[in-house]
Amino acid sequence: MAPDGQTLAPNVYDAEPIPDAARAEIDRLLTSGDLFRYTAPADAPVALLEVEFANLLGARYALAVSSCSAALFLSLKALDLPKGAKVLIPAFTFAAVPSAVVHADCAPVLVEVGQNYRVDMADFAAKLPGADAVMISHMRGHTSDMDAIMALADAAGVPVIEDAAHSLGTTWGTRNIGTIGRIGCFSFQSYKLVNAGEGGIMVTDDPELAARAIIMSGAYEQNWKKHPGLQNSFGHWQNKLPLYNLRMQNLSAAVIRPQLPLVAERVAKGLANHDYVAGRLNSTTTLHVPPALPQESRAPDSIQFNLIGDWTDAQATGFQSAAKARGVSVQVFGLSDGNARAFWNWQFLGDPPDLPQTRAMLMRACDVRLPARLTRPELDYIADALIDAATDACNQ
Ligand SMILES: *Cc1c(COP(=O)(O)O)cnc(C)c1O
Repeated sequence: MAPDGQTLAPNVYDAEPIPDAARAEIDRLLTSGDLFRYTAPADAPVALLEVEFANLLGARYALAVSSCSAALFLSLKALDLPKGAKVLIPAFTFAAVPSAVVHADCAPVLVEVGQNYRVDMADFAAKLPGADAVMISHMRGHTSDMDAIMALADAAGVPVIEDAAHSLGTTWGTRNIGTIGRIGCFSFQSYKLVNAGEGGIMVTDDPELAARAIIMSGAYEQNWKKHPGLQNSFGHWQNKLPLYNLRMQNLSAAVIRPQLPLVAERVAKGLANHDYVAGRLNSTTTLHVPPALPQESRAPDSIQFNLIGDWTDAQATGFQSAAKARGVSVQVFGLSDGNARAFWNWQFLGDPPDLPQTRAMLMRACDVRLPARLTRPELDYIADALIDAATDACNQ
């Protein structure tokens, strides 16, 4: 509280402390020096994390790696796609996603995304013929229509990888996001629900894909024997695949494991916070939070909303400044310089494709962090600041 009784703009940038339980385990690892996942004969922290994560998600196999980008890359390699294979990705995602596709010697094909941040199914259906794989990025945890995507992809015999980097805790009907496609990939980078600084994990029910990904992640010689349940598959692949060495180390697993039991509570709080602020923004005629799809239960740690009505670019920029003056940082994806989520900035792909729908969305879609720890007065502070900033900007 400020001296005059007003709530100060909340700090939405600091991370949550890592649970105390991590300390004893980190101390133990530092004392023994046992940081490499394959040194211990069994029960290394990384191996335990894989079992716990697979159980949490309801998947048969999990492989912990150095980042979600590494998991996405290994997923494509595990599918054994031909060089230059076409991989459909949403045009609204983080630059790491097309980068993983390029890294795997494949060619990304960008699919239009609607005003609701989800894959445009008409464009998806039009671009699917000729595609070798689909990588669905649930950007900021917004889930595309997985029933429609799986029906079309299955009918076409095209494998689906889910980029669930930011979707831990999101459900689709009775399923966990990340378990619907052939492989699901998650991130433990600091801006995600579970924070290890860096890290990633992939889940699959397919023993062949798991075995191939495990070997390529760097399970050299007989180290694959430390991954349970896959012995037949491994025997076939040993020494036939390159080793990319994208392993996770034990310290990361020690930071992640005590956070897994907190996921459900973080999801519940994050969703309640999000829906409260969404309700307030949706009471205006200038700001709009698109609803989740009916099958989707979200796990948000930020809020995205559109500037609706006749906003000019200057008014949208003015909105960012007016919010900033009130202590609330808003990013309009398409208006912040060099934004890594705006497809026209992915210059490593060559000339940007013509994607008018996604471009229009990005020019008016806003992003505000909303961590689960915020209190109701802090949420009201943020909502008030955004609503007042919109009023100011529209009167310009
Ligand atoms: C964070 C993120 C990634 C990249 O994850 P890293 O672990 O940093 O490689 C990929 N896709 C989406 C949607 C993300 O949010």
